[in-house]
Amino acid sequence: MKNKKIVNRIVIFLMLISTVGFQHSSAQSINTDKSKYWCDKELRPALLKLKEVKTSRPWFKVYDVGNHVFAIDEPYNYEETISYLIIGKNKALLFDTGMGLDSISKVVKELTHLPITVLNSHTHFDHIGGDHEFSRILAMNTSYTKANAKNGFTHLQIRNEVTPEAFCYTQLPQLDTAGYITRPFKVNKFIEDNYIIDLGNRKLQVIATPGHAPDAICLFEAETGYLWTGDSFYIGPIFLFDEGTDLKTYQHSINRMAKLASKAKKVLPAHNLPVVDPAEVIRANRAFGQILAKKVKGVPGDFGAITFQFGAFSYMIGRELLGL
Ligand SMILES: [Zn+2]
Repeated sequence: MKNKKIVNRIVIFLMLISTVGFQHSSAQSINTDKSKYWCDKELRPALLKLKEVKTSRPWFKVYDVGNHVFAIDEPYNYEETISYLIIGKNKALLFDTGMGLDSISKVVKELTHLPITVLNSHTHFDHIGGDHEFSRILAMNTSYTKANAKNGFTHLQIRNEVTPEAFCYTQLPQLDTAGYITRPFKVNKFIEDNYIIDLGNRKLQVIATPGHAPDAICLFEAETGYLWTGDSFYIGPIFLFDEGTDLKTYQHSINRMAKLASKAKKVLPAHNLPVVDPAEVIRANRAFGQILAKKVKGVPGDFGAITFQFGAFSYMIGRELLGL
C-alpha cells in the first residue's frame, strides 16, 4: 500500500510528489475536474522506454522486463500497483495479483498457458485483489497473512480506491464500484523465510522483509540478478505508518535487501516503476540508517507523517513511530 485512505487529498498529494517522475498532462484539469485526473495523466516517462506487450485488457499495461518476466502494471489508479508474472519451464509464478479492479487471471492467460502459482509480496489489499481467481497460492506463515486471507477487505475499508478521484473510470467502465471488495482466498501452502520456489529451470528465494507489513517479503533470483522488493522499496514515497509497521524490523529488512541489491542487476518493485537501479536500494538502506540515527531532518507531511526526502525516493514515517 502506498496510500492512506484519504482520497480527497490525493491530487494535492500527487502534486507534492511530482518530483519523482510524474508528468501532468494538464494542471488545469486537476483543478477543474479531479475525476478525470487518472485518465488525463500521462504515463511515467520511464514506462515509455519499456517493451510493452499488448493484451485485450486495457486496464493493465504489461511490460516485458527481460528473462521471461512480465510486469503487470495498473497505471490508471493512484496506487499504480505492479504485479509480476515470472515464467519458468513447467510453471509460472504470479508475484502479487493487484487491486482486483479488473481480472488479472485473464491477462495472465494471454501471457502463458503454464500452471500458475500465486505468492504475495505482502497481504495489503492492493496486492491480493486477484488472489481469489487462482487455486494454487503460497503464503507466509504469519497470523497477519492468515487473517487477511480469511477476511479479505470490506467495501468500507477500500471504497476510497474507487472514487472518481482515485482511478480512471473510462478505462474500466464495467467496474461495479459500489460492490468493490477484496475477496478472501484459500492458501494451499504456508512457507517461511528462505523458501525456494522452483519453476523447473529457475529458482527464486523468498526473503522475509517485514517492516512495511508483518508479512512483507522480497524475491531474489541469483541467476538473473532480479530482486523483487514489494513495498519494502520503490521509487516514490515509501510509507511506514500503517498498522503493523515497525521501524526496527524494517531497518533489519532494508539492510538485508541492500546486501542482495549489491549482487542484483534489476530491482522490480510493487508500485510506480517496474525496473529500478539496485543502487537505489543501497542508498535507501543508508538513508534509513540516517533517519533512525536522527542525522537527517524530516518535514511534516500529509497523513500526519514526517517526510524524509532522498532524491528519487522518500520515507514517510508515522510521528508516533519516531517518538514525536
Ligand atoms: Zn502496496
